[in-house]
Amino acid sequence: MEKFKYNITNLFLDLLYPENNCCMICGYWDEKIGKDYICRECFLKIENIKGHRCKVCSKPLVSSGDVCLECIEEPKVFKKLFAPYQYSGILSKTIKDYKYNNKAYYYKMLGELLYKYIKGKCIDVDIITYVPLHKNKKRKRGYNQSELLAKYLGDKLNIPCEKLIDRVVDTKAQNQLNREDRKNNLKNTFQYKKDLQDKNILLVDDVYTTGTTLNECSKALLKAHANNIYGLTLGR
Ligand SMILES: [Zn+2]
Ligand SMILES: [Zn+2]
Repeated sequence: MEKFKYNITNLFLDLLYPENNCCMICGYWDEKIGKDYICRECFLKIENIKGHRCKVCSKPLVSSGDVCLECIEEPKVFKKLFAPYQYSGILSKTIKDYKYNNKAYYYKMLGELLYKYIKGKCIDVDIITYVPLHKNKKRKRGYNQSELLAKYLGDKLNIPCEKLIDRVVDTKAQNQLNREDRKNNLKNTFQYKKDLQDKNILLVDDVYTTGTTLNECSKALLKAHANNIYGLTLGR
């Protein structure tokens, strides 16, 4: 009888949450998947960033130095970027689907990956925030992928998640520009919304490429007197 009751409960939960136990990438169903929304096989295809890294931006380093050339040439105002995975292969495809192919529901799977990675890190965070989209772009896409991840993390970590930055200029997509143009493209794009005296901020984005976006957002947070700013992205 006990077993029967258990199965009925499971059946009920499956009806209520059909996405539970199902891998969002390949559709494989397994009770072990639960609320990870990713099967073991797909998870193992995502590559960790291994070895010696830049202490600021987590870029893998071949030399023995502490800081990479990019961070020396364009100093970062955030304290450290946390990024667990290489932005390639299955992860880059998944993130592109998440952003450009209307798969907003991926936020649960990707948020859970971020949560599992960041929860063990000893960083002192008062507010979680995210890289904003301009309102025109958000209206077009329907959602801000970084906002969904940040809110998921806020709920799981029990830390308030707030919009702290406005994107006041509708800029060109960064991925179509070179490094120098990326910097100019984003000048004066971000504005802080309120004073953040002594607050430590975790700034979430989906991917870190040249770091210009994260750095420009961090500058806006510094103008609001934030204390430490940490970046968090899935990949880089
Ligand atoms: Zn899978
Ligand atoms: Zn670096």
